[in-house]
Amino acid sequence: MKTYLEISISAGEQQREMLIPTMLKVGCEGFQETDTSLLCYLTMDRWDHSKLQSLKHDLRALLRTISSNAEVVFREIQDQNWNEQWEKTIRPIEVSNRIVIKPSWAEYNNLNGKIVIQIDPKMSFGTGYHETTRLTLQLLEEYLQPGWAVLDVGTGTGVLAIAAIKLGASSAIGTDIDEWALENAKENVEANAVQGTVEIVDKPASEFPYSHFDLISANLTLNTNIEMLDDFRNVLRDGGMLLLSGLLRGDRGSMVNELGRKHFEIVGERFENEWVAIAAKKR
Ligand code: SAH
Repeated sequence: MKTYLEISISAGEQQREMLIPTMLKVGCEGFQETDTSLLCYLTMDRWDHSKLQSLKHDLRALLRTISSNAEVVFREIQDQNWNEQWEKTIRPIEVSNRIVIKPSWAEYNNLNGKIVIQIDPKMSFGTGYHETTRLTLQLLEEYLQPGWAVLDVGTGTGVLAIAAIKLGASSAIGTDIDEWALENAKENVEANAVQGTVEIVDKPASEFPYSHFDLISANLTLNTNIEMLDDFRNVLRDGGMLLLSGLLRGDRGSMVNELGRKHFEIVGERFENEWVAIAAKKR
């Protein structure tokens, strides 16, 4: 029987989606969730004692940067079918009126002709289990017009770019600064059979032609959204739509201010828990 290292991290639901990619990078092979914690599993045979000590040290430091109040507990346990248990907790999720996101292993009984997007929670952010993704998908569903050219900045799993095509966009380009995300997004583009229309590229927004896109989605952070606002404005056509997410309610004032200064008109907003997403039009 194999021995596993169980790393238990006290983390709220919002932190978990951010923790999972990090934990995958340090070699975790399975996860399980409880009400209060994320449990991550590593095979022990792969680690000698000194490696294990340095892993523990690095992990604590890493986790402090993600979540200041995360507590980490390490425990050695005997083999159990943790992956199967964890997978059972990941179910299809209806993220907007028309869109459902499901993992490859779950069945979704599509009685109402929904758009079903297949995303396995893996190494990247963007599975539909986070408010910021759901809010952007809702805005996309509301504002995207058929035939539009879309740029998705910080594509993560590629979920927004894939959704854009399924909602009628004629083309979508997803970009990211994380190479795991780019790789994962490409896999998801294939899994959803949109290779012909979705392109995943490693290229900053500033390098696209002026006035090239009808819609830009950016589920980033307040600061990144503000920093990139000029670039977004340049590559967006007049009257084009900018969907901004990754914003806390407390960020709203600053974002609205900045949008006003850069001649964007706010046309819609969506809220869920402490998050807000904004749709703004280039004037
Ligand atoms: N679009 C997905 C993922 C959002 S998470 C969704 O809505 O769920 C944010 C993503 O943006 C991460 O994958 C991160 O690597 C990427 N990112 C962060 N800063 C970026 C930047 N300056 N340019 C491009 N991508 C960035």
